[in-house]
Amino acid sequence: MMDKKTSPPPANFIRSIVESDLQKNRFDRQLAMRFPPEPNGYLHIGHAKSICLNFGTALNFHGKCNLRFDDTNPDKESEEFEDAIEADVRWLGFDSGPRIYHASDYFQQLFDYAIILIESDKAYVDSLSAAEMREFRGTLTEVGRPSPYRDRTSDENLKLFRAMAAGEFDEGEHVLRAKIDMASPNINMRDPVLYRIRKTAHHRTGLAWKIYPMYDYTHCVSDALEGITHSLCTLEFEDHRPLYDWVLNALPVPCHPQQIEFARLELNYTITSKRKLSMLVENGHVSGWDDPRLPTLKGLRRRGYTPEAIREFCERVGVTKKQTLIDVEVLENCVREHLDNSAARAMAVIRPLKVIIENYPDNLNDELHAANHPKDESFGSRMIEFSREIFIERDDFMEAPTKGFFRLAPGQEVRLRYAYLVTCTRVERDPSTGEVAVVYCTYDPSSRGGNAPDGRKVKGTIHWVSAVHGARAEVRLYDRLFNVPNPASEDDFLSHLNSDSVEIITNAIVEPGLASVLPESRHQFERLGYFCADSIDHRPSAPVFNRVVTLRDTWAKTNPATKN
Ligand code: ATP
Ligand code: MG
Repeated sequence: MMDKKTSPPPANFIRSIVESDLQKNRFDRQLAMRFPPEPNGYLHIGHAKSICLNFGTALNFHGKCNLRFDDTNPDKESEEFEDAIEADVRWLGFDSGPRIYHASDYFQQLFDYAIILIESDKAYVDSLSAAEMREFRGTLTEVGRPSPYRDRTSDENLKLFRAMAAGEFDEGEHVLRAKIDMASPNINMRDPVLYRIRKTAHHRTGLAWKIYPMYDYTHCVSDALEGITHSLCTLEFEDHRPLYDWVLNALPVPCHPQQIEFARLELNYTITSKRKLSMLVENGHVSGWDDPRLPTLKGLRRRGYTPEAIREFCERVGVTKKQTLIDVEVLENCVREHLDNSAARAMAVIRPLKVIIENYPDNLNDELHAANHPKDESFGSRMIEFSREIFIERDDFMEAPTKGFFRLAPGQEVRLRYAYLVTCTRVERDPSTGEVAVVYCTYDPSSRGGNAPDGRKVKGTIHWVSAVHGARAEVRLYDRLFNVPNPASEDDFLSHLNSDSVEIITNAIVEPGLASVLPESRHQFERLGYFCADSIDHRPSAPVFNRVVTLRDTWAKTNPATKN
């Protein structure tokens, strides 16, 4: 039973069902869930919801959870995808231990069960073409018609089915169908196909099989063979549940798991369909499955998302039967909150403007200033080099300041975070563009640490990086991949790609220590947001940072007054 003290699970209807089943001792076996991806692509945030739900519920109630590859379609599946999926599940923080299974492990058992179905006149070999079969199936308003092959004898069916398995027919010549009810109002029950002929090599069973079981047949049997108690799937399988139960009732399977459906996770401004994600990758709209703009786990990870943030997100969106589009801001808030507490702080200037402090003595050029983590003392103090020439953010300076602009402006005093108060005296322009190229300031030597000894008020505080010590870095600013909230509902979703979904800045300047951080380490760049050293391109000699998410306060846009 669940230990309520150590792990209070938030309520959701699936946990309620599980809890009540356990209380009633409904099953003669341990609680068992499974996560059943098809190894034909990389996992996305929707899968994360399913992983958290299955593994999380199993953990909460001391059950087990299997990772099962649903590998019944040799055309699209591969070992590469399996390895990636396993790695993603582990990264997310879940471990199936040795409980990694494959539907293909059950091919022989599935075949033997199919023989039983044929022998008991519950399945037959049909020889209609695919088009004919579609036509015979009927529609939502029109009942289906029986195939002329529906009344083949068991013996005839057995012979044909074995010949199919022996490779004696071409693809499409025959299929094995369940014999249920061609007049059923549920189209899934109108003699669904159980097996089809496929001559492609399977990544695990090679050419041993010439016939492959269909999902609806394979899934319920696999669940039963693994002793699954609760088989969770998304809402579109609700209409398949009668078939799930029909197959298990028709066969001498070891147990009969319960299928329960829940709403898929859908996020706005992105897509969570493997097929559409493949189109983005294959057509080069993104740089790969790990493009930081994608909602794949590989993409989110490269962007800088933490597993903790994704798990928290899955918890927050909950589990329901009502399909909704979740605001991507909910996801962003989760990572922001996690990184606010866990990420080290650093200073970086993304759009640098040179500042020269004219009265600052050259011999003080390596002076160090201490900076503390505002939330977590365990980060200790870091020492930051100050010097006569620094960079500040270009938009922290205004030559003709608007009302309420408390940052740097001619004659105006501002606090350089952790260092000194400086006042702008004059500017120097780039003669060709007319843009401000250098801002000249004087500093108050008695304001070390950023406080005036006379207690005078200085409203604005800005960040900076020493020009002598700072390292040049590339910074990649990511934005939403689509410019419409629900691209999946658009006819041509590709025409709604946001053309400004990434901005690459090659001349950012970062605190020197940032150059040598490990790939994938995350920092808050003060006043800018959370950034992650790119897992692939980041080098000490050429640092590269991805923006995970901006700070909650989109400060410069909404309020020109400095708050930090
Ligand atoms: P897609 O529609 O992206 O191709 P899929 O359902 O075909 O996804 P599978 O590999 O079969 O992909 O999914 C494995 C498991 O993850 C299934 O149990 C499925 O229900 C679940 N899952 C997939 N997408 C979502 C989602 N958006 N929200 C919740 N669960 C999902
Ligand atoms: Mg699927």
